Amino acid sequence: MARIFWVTCPRCSGRFYCHYTDLRHTDWLLLCPYCQHRFHQNDSPRIDD
Ligand SMILES: [Zn+2]
Repeated sequence: MARIFWVTCPRCSGRFYCHYTDLRHTDWLLLCPYCQHRFHQNDSPRIDD
């Protein structure tokens, strides 16, 4: 089972998960599925590994 982490969107505070091995500690921009905001994970107010 793929490892995931939960991210909180800095714009709408929506929570969604991403694949850990693909995206954690990378500079890829994450796309919020609720408001389509793109942001760096360091800009997230909360990340649950
Ligand atoms: Zn959002």
